[in-house]
Amino acid sequence: SHDTDCDVAIIGAGPAGAAAAARLSHLGWRVHVIERSHFPRFAIGESLLPQSMAYLEAAGLLEAVQRAGYQPKNGAAFTRRSRTTAIDFRDKSTPGWGTTYQVPRADFDQRLIHAAGALGATLEFGTTVTAFDAHAMHPTLQLEDEQGMARRLNARYVLDASGYGRVLARLEGLERDPRAEPRMAIFSHVEDGIEDADYDREKILIGVHPEDAGIWYWLIPFADGRASVGVVGDIETLTAHGDCPEARWQTLIDREPRFRQLLHQARRVREVNEIRGYAASVTQLHGPGYALLGNAGEFLDPVFSSGVTIALHSAHLAAPLVDRQLRGESIDWHADFEAPLRAGVDTFRAFVEAWYAGTLQTIVFHEAPPPRFKRWISGVLAGYAWDHDNPFVTASRRRLAALAEVCAQRDEVRS
Ligand code: FAD
Repeated sequence: SHDTDCDVAIIGAGPAGAAAAARLSHLGWRVHVIERSHFPRFAIGESLLPQSMAYLEAAGLLEAVQRAGYQPKNGAAFTRRSRTTAIDFRDKSTPGWGTTYQVPRADFDQRLIHAAGALGATLEFGTTVTAFDAHAMHPTLQLEDEQGMARRLNARYVLDASGYGRVLARLEGLERDPRAEPRMAIFSHVEDGIEDADYDREKILIGVHPEDAGIWYWLIPFADGRASVGVVGDIETLTAHGDCPEARWQTLIDREPRFRQLLHQARRVREVNEIRGYAASVTQLHGPGYALLGNAGEFLDPVFSSGVTIALHSAHLAAPLVDRQLRGESIDWHADFEAPLRAGVDTFRAFVEAWYAGTLQTIVFHEAPPPRFKRWISGVLAGYAWDHDNPFVTASRRRLAALAEVCAQRDEVRS
């Protein structure tokens, strides 16, 4: 027999790792989470989608989130050249949660992982996974602590939830070209000081640069009077806006009239950060004795705030399969994990591509899209990208192109 230190080793204590750890601990398995940093730690990705609430609930983590007093969120507002529209997630085709939260991730991630700890998971911070021996029955991780001490951790299954660390993608040679334009994000937190009565704090605000539709902004308000403010665009264009991150961030915000007006009293409370080329892709999401969760596998683009929802969905799919495999069942990881996970990711991908192609902007800025269509779009933007009753899920590209054409024709008639 083979000595194991735990049943399931999880790399990374972000939302994907925490959700998998909570679910598998609850099922009685010995779960060991290895996290490189010390929590609370900053992370970007602060706007959740309603669909994620169901996954938090299934993982036994919803109560911890509801107790935190986060800013409620019920939709997304869009602004471009003084025109503002909104999508209300409560008015959507798919049944289920229509509201969620905007969360400072340092606090959110800390609450989730400690709730997983309370369910029985062993948490180890300040330890980095440095190597991996794949094996269908007893995979092994090599760990290194902050004193440089190395040791091995023997598990029966490994879940990689290391996010941008992309531990197993690198170690197992799974990385592939994400085929996305290399974009960058520049962002910070502010005391927003917003007093405008027309501003809806319960929605994320997405702005579009008045002259360059490839540049967009986010304003994500928190419950404590602070907000996350960021801008995304292609690397060359954004870096041409100033000599340092602070200058670029401020100059770009001042270019968008609604953001400039809302944030005229804002005071920055964090340094300005930049992330470049965050899109990532892998050839496969599983292998002998392991699976990849959340950003450790694929990451598309931040425009529709789908990252944490996909991360939680991946944990939601994987945890029951790990449970069955450890009980001796043979699992088809491709059919039951990779294929269904990728199907929803592809729905988001179609929406992201339509955003940058301009067709989705035509739809969201259209005065009155037909209500039935609006509810289908709302369903996907609320995170229900796996709902096969929604034609914008099953035939995303064709449906988006057709609807954009109708909206564009009506816009023309009107002007
Ligand atoms: P993470 O949250 O990244 O957690 C991974 C953890 O693994 C980290 O704590 C890290 O320290 C640890 N780790 C890494 N390497 C190792 C190692 N070798 N050993 C041990 N531990 C390790 N998503 C949304 O849902 N809403 C948004 O509004 C949104 N906005 C975004 C804006 C931008 C600009 C970007 C780039 C992304 C945005 N996202 C958003 C996506 C979101 O950031 C991620 O999808 C989400 O954080 C993924 O969670 P995760 O659990 O997979 O990984």
